[in-house]
Amino acid sequence: MLNNIENELMIGLAGGLGVDFDLVSNEIAKHLTKAGYHVEVIRIADNFLQRKKDSNFSACYWKMQYGTKQRQINGNDFWAKKVINKIFSARQELSQKYKKIAYIIRSLKNKQELELLSNVYGRNFTAISIFSEQEVSLKFLDKKLSLGRLTITDAQQQMRQINSELQLSVDMDIQSAIELFGYDLADNNKTSDQQKLLRFLLSKDQEETHPELKKYGQNLFKCYSIANYFVYQNKNLTRQIKRFVDLLFNDPFAEPTFEEYFMFCAQAAAYRSLDLDRQVGAVIVNSEHELVASGFNDVSKVGGGHFAHHDHPIYDIKEQQVDQRDFKQEYDYNHKYLDQIANNIAKKLHLEQQEQAVLREEIRGITEFKRSTHAEMSALLDASRRGVAVRGCTIYVNTYPCHTCTKHLIASGITKVVFLHPYTKSKAREMYLGMIKHGLLLDEAAQPGFIIFEPFLGVSPNRFILTFANDKDTRLELENGRENGKPTAWEINENSIPRALKERRPHYYICREWAIINNNLPDMSTFYR
Ligand SMILES: [Zn+2]
Repeated sequence: MLNNIENELMIGLAGGLGVDFDLVSNEIAKHLTKAGYHVEVIRIADNFLQRKKDSNFSACYWKMQYGTKQRQINGNDFWAKKVINKIFSARQELSQKYKKIAYIIRSLKNKQELELLSNVYGRNFTAISIFSEQEVSLKFLDKKLSLGRLTITDAQQQMRQINSELQLSVDMDIQSAIELFGYDLADNNKTSDQQKLLRFLLSKDQEETHPELKKYGQNLFKCYSIANYFVYQNKNLTRQIKRFVDLLFNDPFAEPTFEEYFMFCAQAAAYRSLDLDRQVGAVIVNSEHELVASGFNDVSKVGGGHFAHHDHPIYDIKEQQVDQRDFKQEYDYNHKYLDQIANNIAKKLHLEQQEQAVLREEIRGITEFKRSTHAEMSALLDASRRGVAVRGCTIYVNTYPCHTCTKHLIASGITKVVFLHPYTKSKAREMYLGMIKHGLLLDEAAQPGFIIFEPFLGVSPNRFILTFANDKDTRLELENGRENGKPTAWEINENSIPRALKERRPHYYICREWAIINNNLPDMSTFYR
């Protein structure tokens, strides 16, 4: 049963309903085949019952609701557990026939699914997120579902039936779900019912907003950004996938793109933050691709910059300034103040317990009372302290900017923001609708009056070191066991081994896999007697 598993690869794909997964997985398979891999595609939706007489709309909607229902009963990583089971049982037969097996898993829809696969399979698992332009997604879905003359009223009827079958509460009405997602429907009256239904499905897939199902529903936003590699579904998909596979197989002459390098720098800056919430980092880069400033989110000190420890073990001196950071003060003012507001309102309006909870949920997104300087602002101020101009520069930030930073970035003359993680509290999109253009590969010069917000592409900072660290052994050719000073010739062939598996510890994940399948972790107590 454990034949040929040491070269196993698991590749998880995350992307929206509008992504052409066949196209992406065929492309990956094509390149893996060159490395002698047998490719097995695992579709999570294969576990779903097929319902007869479903229209395309109801089939699609049913899949989402059924997936959510199962997560509600069995936990948010339920579908990843199913995948692990599938791999475990498929392996028995496949490993007799093939020396190298790659499993392509499509498609991941929430963070917990991705995390479980990553925890179980470690470096053998790689997650790829696929970005598809909204217009392209709508077109693709339109073709796939061919909704014909389906009206919103009919669709709502089908939804009600599905929800009663699955014993789920009534879903939000389509119009308000679309609005909540922030689609600009200024042309509401002209938009056809079918177009609205497509938008509804796309938004539900990206992020479930139904208050009761939110916790268990699909949340592509949160899953998408923690992947290891990001591709853009455009005409250069083939080149992007080829590069991904080359990197996976240790191409010794692959170098990071500017984007990958600067996002890695932004992530490094983020790790300096001791903020009590998330760690955010940013770097500002000029048009010559020179890094001109950096910042991270934390409390600033008088005289400029941030507080920092001076308690490095090699120095005698300790903190040179009285440290005023939140963790030293032992509270986060924003949380404390929001609590105060909620208590005051609750008291004045005599709110019940449940109403108080609603109130707290509503004001949770307010960030204005943080003492920390945000990373973007910190980077701008870093530049200003040293007299470095930032007009026309790009800022790389590991999290989508908040509305406050956005207005400062606009004021500073920064023309492009490249971001990695989403930030749902940010109102930037709505507040500066006429000033921000979201998209990829936009020509800045052709967009006067706009600041460009661009999602990150390429190798995530979480795989940067593993992907680009190299040693000279792999770069120098060996002749009779000795280096002859020439660069090694490299191409993928039947003998290629993925970089992550170079120092192989065969079978190391089998016990973790087994634990998931049997729904419990092995009893470790015998080791600690
Ligand atoms: Zn901010």
